[in-house]
Amino acid sequence: MTSSTGAPIDRPMPAGERTTPTRIHADRAAGTLSIDWADGHSTIYNAHDLRWLCPCAFCRGEAGLPGWLDTSPTLTPDQTRLEDVHLVGSYAIAPTWGDGHHTGYYPFALLRERCSCPEDTQRRTRS
Ligand SMILES: [Zn+2]
Ligand SMILES: [Zn+2]
Repeated sequence: MTSSTGAPIDRPMPAGERTTPTRIHADRAAGTLSIDWADGHSTIYNAHDLRWLCPCAFCRGEAGLPGWLDTSPTLTPDQTRLEDVHLVGSYAIAPTWGDGHHTGYYPFALLRERCSCPEDTQRRTRS
């Protein structure tokens, strides 16, 4: 007999589904980026948080040198205004910001890992 309780099947989620977006929507008016994932999860970033995650060499530094964001700059409204979002191949997105910055490629795996929902925030603080 099959269970009618809707209990989750006890089997690890294939890694691909967790980091495969089925829908990416940038809402410029609201300043948010929402992503629906193939495993049914959704992630919503506000533009300000997303800007702070920029993984590019300028923001994050490279070769052991600190990046611009490591200097804890005060971000201007331009720098946190989401202008546009482009897909980069099948693995990342590249937002364009109000100050013209567009060199940050955010891999899907990063966007899922940094998901700001309570469940994922709790998971990160535990580990
Ligand atoms: Zn950057
Ligand atoms: Zn989440």
